[in-house]
Amino acid sequence: MSLSEITEAIAKAEKYAGRAPGSVSLIAVSKKQPDARVEEVLDEGHRVFGENRVQEAAGKWPGFREKYDGIELHIIGPLQTNKVRQAMELAQAIHSVDRPKLAQTIARIAQEEGHCPDLFIQVNTGEEEQKAGILPKDADAFITECRGLDLPLRGLMCIPPVDEEPSLHFALLAKIAARNGLDGLSMGMSGDFERAIALGATHVRVGSAIFGDRAY
Ligand SMILES: *Cc1c(COP(=O)(O)O)cnc(C)c1O
Repeated sequence: MSLSEITEAIAKAEKYAGRAPGSVSLIAVSKKQPDARVEEVLDEGHRVFGENRVQEAAGKWPGFREKYDGIELHIIGPLQTNKVRQAMELAQAIHSVDRPKLAQTIARIAQEEGHCPDLFIQVNTGEEEQKAGILPKDADAFITECRGLDLPLRGLMCIPPVDEEPSLHFALLAKIAARNGLDGLSMGMSGDFERAIALGATHVRVGSAIFGDRAY
């Protein structure tokens, strides 16, 4: 699919869900994509991008920022505490806040630097051992803890297990967000962003459907 086809599909899904036009933000996930493909999408006017790894983001986005204005970068992958400062310098949002130590590190650096990206708490809705994210049963307490640290919490994020119906996970994430008074929902990828929008996604993270398969 092309960028414009994705944008159209998002608009349609917003409409079917009775959501306001433009209420869903498309994060184009550019990890492991060739620079030339990323530049094509920049040339089409898109400005919101997602990267999994801080190191990869640091290698390519300062250069793109010299050529293109208004780039908004989202870090969506697992974050080590020793990469937090760099992530906070590069990104306008971090979607993978998933443990107290990380939240505390972000809060300390935000104090020092006087600014902080928008934050999403990653919830491991499938309770998968290999996956990052706070467990659903610990989410309320962790949200309270982040608020106590005065962090700019924008919402919640999840990555459903590959072999399960994602809608169940999107609904669970939406429920945890609602009972905590959070309205940001980062959920939905190439294969399921329409279902995520139906269940309230405010941010969809779409990679391969825009750029093509990644080179691993
Ligand atoms: C890679 C990635 C995506 C995009 O996945 P696609 O299936 O290519 O759309 C979304 N979210 C996260 C956290 C990712 O790592």
